[in-house]
Amino acid sequence: MVLSIIQSADETEAISSIFASRYVHEPLPRYKMPKKTIPKEVAYQIIHDELMLDGNPRLNLASFVTTWMEPECDKLMSEAINKNYVDMDEYPNRCVNMIGQMFHAPSAKGKHGTSLGVATVGSSEAIMLAGLAFKKKWQNKRKAEGKPYDRPNIVTGANVQVCWEKFARYFDVELKEVKLTERCFVMDPVKAVELVDENTICVAAILGSTLNGEFEDVKLWNTPIHVDAASGGFVAPFVYPDLEWDFRLPLVKSINVSGHKYGLVYAGVGWVIWRSKDDLPEELVFHINYLGADQPTFTLNFSKGASQIVAQYYQFLRMGFEGYKHVIENCIENARTLRKGLEKTGRFEIVSKDQGIPLVAFAFKHDDKSLAFDLSKALRHHGWIVPAYTMPADIEHMTILRVVVREDFGRQMVDKLLSHIKQALVELKETVPRLTFTVEVKPSEGDADADMQIAETSVHWTKDKHKMFHKEVKVTGGKTKGVC
Ligand SMILES: *Cc1c(COP(=O)(O)O)cnc(C)c1O
Repeated sequence: MVLSIIQSADETEAISSIFASRYVHEPLPRYKMPKKTIPKEVAYQIIHDELMLDGNPRLNLASFVTTWMEPECDKLMSEAINKNYVDMDEYPNRCVNMIGQMFHAPSAKGKHGTSLGVATVGSSEAIMLAGLAFKKKWQNKRKAEGKPYDRPNIVTGANVQVCWEKFARYFDVELKEVKLTERCFVMDPVKAVELVDENTICVAAILGSTLNGEFEDVKLWNTPIHVDAASGGFVAPFVYPDLEWDFRLPLVKSINVSGHKYGLVYAGVGWVIWRSKDDLPEELVFHINYLGADQPTFTLNFSKGASQIVAQYYQFLRMGFEGYKHVIENCIENARTLRKGLEKTGRFEIVSKDQGIPLVAFAFKHDDKSLAFDLSKALRHHGWIVPAYTMPADIEHMTILRVVVREDFGRQMVDKLLSHIKQALVELKETVPRLTFTVEVKPSEGDADADMQIAETSVHWTKDKHKMFHKEVKVTGGKTKGVC
């Protein structure tokens, strides 16, 4: 029997030239699975073309998440693309140990020390797990004391990332937020202590506030602490080694860090480390053995890709402490240059701190707050994504812009951004209607003492015109902004 494959005319045509084929002018279903198969080249081209319309991730200065890695690592990641994380225990363990050591976990000390922790999809999952451990531990203690254990709460600053609100809502924990003030953009320890009560499972302190990169003072607490070091965990150890924020402080029970931020790996990896076994209630850990050896697991999901873990291990091995230190120092230097350039314009007040994450957060000095949104929009025309956002309670009236300086945001790009900002400032001045008009107010003849008033209507008209250019974002409260 002869098996012959007869190619349809359509397929031959599509493969020889996609843009000459019918697929280019026929509509394709987007929200329903198509009935028919299309050639792989065509599918590739269609999706590739649509992806071109997304913003360029390298120009996205809104995000901490890594957008560049070495080609050798890209290659390793592709090689590991068909590996499942659950089949892998060696690499996550090695990374957990290295991070635990870096964070001064007592158990990681010495030649044969080990750390207790897991790889997660990011800091959000890490925070869910750490929060659950605190909740369980608190409940166990309350049960043992014969006290009610149904109203747990957690104390944070209003500057926490949205994942803490998620944790609170998903796992029925009341979130007690310390409000911010114009002088203090992070959790005020004095106010936080007032919120702590017998139902408080922990205080969450942030090493690297999402809003302005500031480090919260972890030393000031007298309750069990979780440190959200999503961005700062891979910054402080390299450039502020003397800053005590980690397991050197006895009350710090767990720490999360995003591998995909200054851990220098593409999106999809985070870590959580516990101080000791006592801080991770055993009933949360499952033991599976059907993949070979006994494997303890404490994660929200089971299967996931392994390439991010391979990439994290690559970075640790390749860069070492020295490499990370140089990268972070460069980021800090570039952030400093950007900050100076912005200050020189005379238009901005800088709200990020010298010590913190390499980012520059800034606000317009005197202007209407919608100017920040206008500047953000103007920069978008050049391809830059620089977010403008309103601050949380109690400083909602402030709008700030934030530029995160990542490894791949080099000096040339800093200079380019600065020149685009300066250009935008000039353009904004020209487009925002500054209506100046002279009103000559004269008393009517023979009425020298009459009140001299400007007709109200003309004032209203000016305001309305102004609004046309500033019909911007409505603030509805809550963490609606995707700052990450
Ligand atoms: C980014 C960030 C998070 C969330 O981390 P993901 O890794 O994106 O899940 C939580 N907290 C802080 C302080 C962050 O900066």
